[in-house]
Amino acid sequence: MTETIVIAELSNNAVHPSTAELVSAAMKLGDSPTLIVPCTDASVANSAVGMGAASIIAAKAEAFANYDAKGWASAIDAVAPQGIIVTGSSPQSKDVAARLAARRSLSVVQDAVAVDGTTVTSPLYSGKAMQTVSINGNVVVSVRSNIFPAASGGAEGTSVVDTTGDVATSVQEFMARASERLDVAEANIIISGGRGMGSPENFTHLESIADTIGAAVGASRAAVDTWEDIPHTMQVGQTGKTVNPNLYIAVGISGAIQHLAGMRSSKYIVAINKDADAPIFQHADYGIVATWEEALPVLQTTLANMMA
Ligand SMILES: Cc1cc2nc3c(=O)[nH]c(=O)nc-3n(C[C@H](O)[C@H](O)[C@H](O)COP(=O)(O)OP(=O)(O)OC[C@H]3O[C@@H](n4cnc5c(N)ncnc54)[C@H](O)[C@@H]3O)c2cc1C
Repeated sequence: MTETIVIAELSNNAVHPSTAELVSAAMKLGDSPTLIVPCTDASVANSAVGMGAASIIAAKAEAFANYDAKGWASAIDAVAPQGIIVTGSSPQSKDVAARLAARRSLSVVQDAVAVDGTTVTSPLYSGKAMQTVSINGNVVVSVRSNIFPAASGGAEGTSVVDTTGDVATSVQEFMARASERLDVAEANIIISGGRGMGSPENFTHLESIADTIGAAVGASRAAVDTWEDIPHTMQVGQTGKTVNPNLYIAVGISGAIQHLAGMRSSKYIVAINKDADAPIFQHADYGIVATWEEALPVLQTTLANMMA
């Protein structure tokens, strides 16, 4: 069977748990996945033990200190064996996936939601259609999170390879993220606000619920475009982030097709909207027809009692 290589997802200087899902997807495409952990400190790779990979390589290079697509792809290419490459589907990972595919003259399939031996399924036209492609030989596949079960076990140790990337361009300084809150792309629960929230200050009500249940706070494009205080990093949708949480709570969001494109594959969707005819209700598993001013305090109290 084909060799598979998984590029680890990283978060806060550790291998993100969603990497175990990538390993599980890789196992459906080929044999004994090799997990590559891009890092400047090889000890980061220790957090990948138990995620199911047959071998774990800490790919150590200065290029990994800050994100730069060209430098990362070059450094990963230098250490990754030939085979099917599996990455996450964060914007950064999809960027690396495309660059690796170009370097190796391979095809790339982005945002895979199903893998079945030699076929890969992914959405296209903003999720309006699904395509299933046959794989013949090596390819690069980026895989959406929260789809595949997490793999476990595997290699109990790591090996270290020093890689030298092409750092013709490198990021000199990295500005801290505007918000230190959990990113929507990493969250299992998301509560998002739309223009119906009325003002950016009212997002504190969403933050308070998010803190109670460990959720991330997202936003519609109308909210991001209308209010400077709501950053683009929070935007969910066609021109924002694609998310796939277990629970998505849409508050004061109408449910435009471009918003749905980024969140409709969520496992459960709850909508709070004062307009019973809002399109979001057609896609919601649970709908609350009320203003957020009425609904959120009740939700906050109920959730706080449940979590107590
Ligand atoms: C090329 C393109 C790309 C786009 N990409 C994106 C994208 O990535 N993400 C995205 O979100 N949009 C995107 N859009 C914009 C999209 O078409 C919609 O305009 C946008 O999603 C609307 O945001 P909204 O639902 O917050 O605002 P609105 O459409 O204004 O809806 C506000 C909702 O809040 C409700 N409401 C009002 N007051 C209250 C209250 N007190 N309590 C409860 N409910 C209340 C209203 O009933 C209404 O349903 C894109 C558009 C284009 C053309």
